[in-house]
Formats: sequence, structure tokens, C-alpha cells
Amino acid sequence: MTESFSTLPLRINADRMSASFIHLASIGATGDGGVSRVTFSEEHLAARKWLQTEIENAGFEFRMDGAGNHSAFLDCGIKDAPTLLFGSHLDSVPNGGRFDGALGVMAALEVLRTVRENRISLRLNLEAIDFTDEEGTHASLLGSSALAGNLHPEDLKNPYSGRENFKAGLMRAGLSEENMLRASRSKESIAGYLELHIEQGKRLERAGINIGIVSAIVGYGSYRLSFIGRADHAGSTSMEDRLDAGQGAGAFILAVREIVMRDFPNCVANVGKIEFAPGASNIVPARADLLLEFRSPDEDQLLKLDIALMKLANDKAEQFGLKLLAEPLGKHLPNLMSADIQKTFRSSCDTLGLSSTVLASGAIHDAQSLVDVCPIGMIFVPSVDGASHAPREFTKWDDCVHGANVLLQTVLSLAA
Ligand SMILES: [Zn+2]
Repeated sequence: MTESFSTLPLRINADRMSASFIHLASIGATGDGGVSRVTFSEEHLAARKWLQTEIENAGFEFRMDGAGNHSAFLDCGIKDAPTLLFGSHLDSVPNGGRFDGALGVMAALEVLRTVRENRISLRLNLEAIDFTDEEGTHASLLGSSALAGNLHPEDLKNPYSGRENFKAGLMRAGLSEENMLRASRSKESIAGYLELHIEQGKRLERAGINIGIVSAIVGYGSYRLSFIGRADHAGSTSMEDRLDAGQGAGAFILAVREIVMRDFPNCVANVGKIEFAPGASNIVPARADLLLEFRSPDEDQLLKLDIALMKLANDKAEQFGLKLLAEPLGKHLPNLMSADIQKTFRSSCDTLGLSSTVLASGAIHDAQSLVDVCPIGMIFVPSVDGASHAPREFTKWDDCVHGANVLLQTVLSLAA
């Protein structure tokens, strides 16, 4: 039996999305396949302006809130209907890739175009959104935090970029701190948030799977650990007489990898910085300060890993006759994606004949800002060689189209 045309699932216009995506990738292009669109840079502002024109030319209502989040809005015509949001971000890290964030925004706009041209009647308003400063040039997840009502005056007092740079950036973008702090929306007005993003890891590619349905965004903990020993002459002090802070820190770093790989299969841990003092080749290190960070998609595992790593640090300090100081620097619990939206993503994949798997996101995303506001859901498409935040970041176009079609089917399931 042949399937009639009308029973085929609706699909986005891949050529139209491609044209928009290619144009966007040319704004801030670095010539090596990547883009630099650091938040409020000339290139980022050019991309924002282009998106506004693209939205207006497509005939959608263009909206910008106090945080500078840009949207294309499609009214369902029902009074006081809530809005289903979906999108990502146009900003990039310096010398980043052209897919991170950009794909999600272009797919969101294409979904809106497809829904409208097929005259699908809706029970929710649809809004394709570009969030300001996801990458945290100034403040992490700035635009989505503002929309969710999580942005506080103190967050803006000490931006990563420095106060003056931040203020100058706001001025260039025509934004103000006062309006940013007033950009929050009510829970009642938002029905949910969906995001398509590249995986930025190798799991999907390695498994040959089309779509990753995100179960959670990992939580993390971080510490400054100081191993404290004693400075001595590095030539005249025998090996057994030393209280060598460097040895303790080094042994700890190696053991971290071992313990995570053996006992915490879904977790990761990283020592990203180490400093010895006094810091000379002829002095036994009296002190080693290191920065430790660890992540897990599971709250219980995160807690257990925290305890295990602190015990390990104490054990290594003791083994080398050192004192240990542990200063907690930050902690964030994992954010869970809506089980219902995960289920809807799964059936969208089935409808489209695409393979899917459930995985956790090791990177942060705008979706987590909205976790207490509305149900959230994310899907990933494969990143070639797992590369991201680099010009060699790449996702095959077919995979981009698959992701956009899953987004479309899911939007239809939730809003039509
Ligand atoms: Zn991103």
C-alpha cells in the first residue's frame, strides 16, 4: 500500500532554512569556517539587526524585550493564550563555530514560517526567540535569566567583561540595566520552552543516532583546594624529609580521573588550574592551589561525587604529610527536562523515522534558566568529531534539517 501525500508528516523548507543559515554564518565570519559574534560586538549587533529584518521581511511581528531578546511572534488569535517559546542564541564565543546557537534560532524561525504557510490553527501563541548573551561574555545566560525573572542587580554589578565594557555594550545595543531587570514574564504567559542545539560532544556521532533527547542539564560543584606543606632546599633535603605540596596535588589529580572513571560513569571532573608557591625549581613547593570542578546529571550522584572527591583530597594530603584547605566556589544542582516534552520529542522522532536516544547535557543552556517558569525540553543533533566553540565545529546539513523537523513536529503536538 502506498502512503498518500496528505498523511506524510509536515516538514520544514530545508532550502529556505539553509539560505538563512548561510547568511547568518557570513556575519562575523572568521574566514576559517567559524564566526566571532561576541555579545554586543559590532558583528553581534549586525547579526541582531539582520535577524530583525529577516523576521519583518517574513511578515512576522518582531518583538524585543528589555533584555534585548529578539523574537518573531505568531499570534494564535485566542485571547490570553499562553505562548510556546523556542529558540537559542545568536552570540558566540570569540572564534567560535557557526552552528552553536545559530542553528536553534534559524530552525525556530523556519518552524514559524512552515506553520504559518500551512495555515495551521493553533491553541498557543508561538514565539521564536534569540536570547541575549547565552555565552556569558557579560553574564551567563543573561537574556534568558532576565526573562525568567532570575536576574538581580548584583548580577550586573560585576560582569565578566568588567563594568565599563558591559555599560558600553548596553549603550551600543540600545539597552539599559533598568529595562533588563524589568524583562521578566509571568509563568501564566509561557506554556513551555523548546531548544534545538548541536551536541558539542561525540556521543550521537559515535552511536550513529540522529537525535539526542536531553534528560537533564548537569549540575556542578567547584572548589579551590590548597595543599599546604613546607618550603625546603630542593637539593639538600632528602626525598623522605619533604612535605611537598606539589606531590600531594599531583597525586590527587591522577586519582580524580581514576575514581570518576571507576565509580561515577556519568560524571566528569576536571582540575583546570594549578599554582605552586613559592614557585621555583630549587624550592620544594610549600603550597599548591588548584581549581577543581565536577559535573553530574543526577543530584544524588553529584552529592556522592562531592563527598568522594573531598575524601580523596584529604587522603592524599595525609599521605604526603600536608594540610588541606577546601574553599567551595560554587554549586548548581542538575536541571531536569520535562518528562512530557521528552516523550513528545520521542514520538516526533518516531513519526519522522529518526533514531533517538536520551542523554544529559554537559554544557549549560538557556533552557535551564526557565526550569522554574515552564516545562522545558531540548534536543541535540550530532557534532562531527564532537568539536564546538571552535571554527571546526560542524554538523551535517541533513542532521540540522532532521533537528528542525523534530522541533516542528513537537511544536505541532504541543500547540496545534
Ligand atoms: Zn549554545
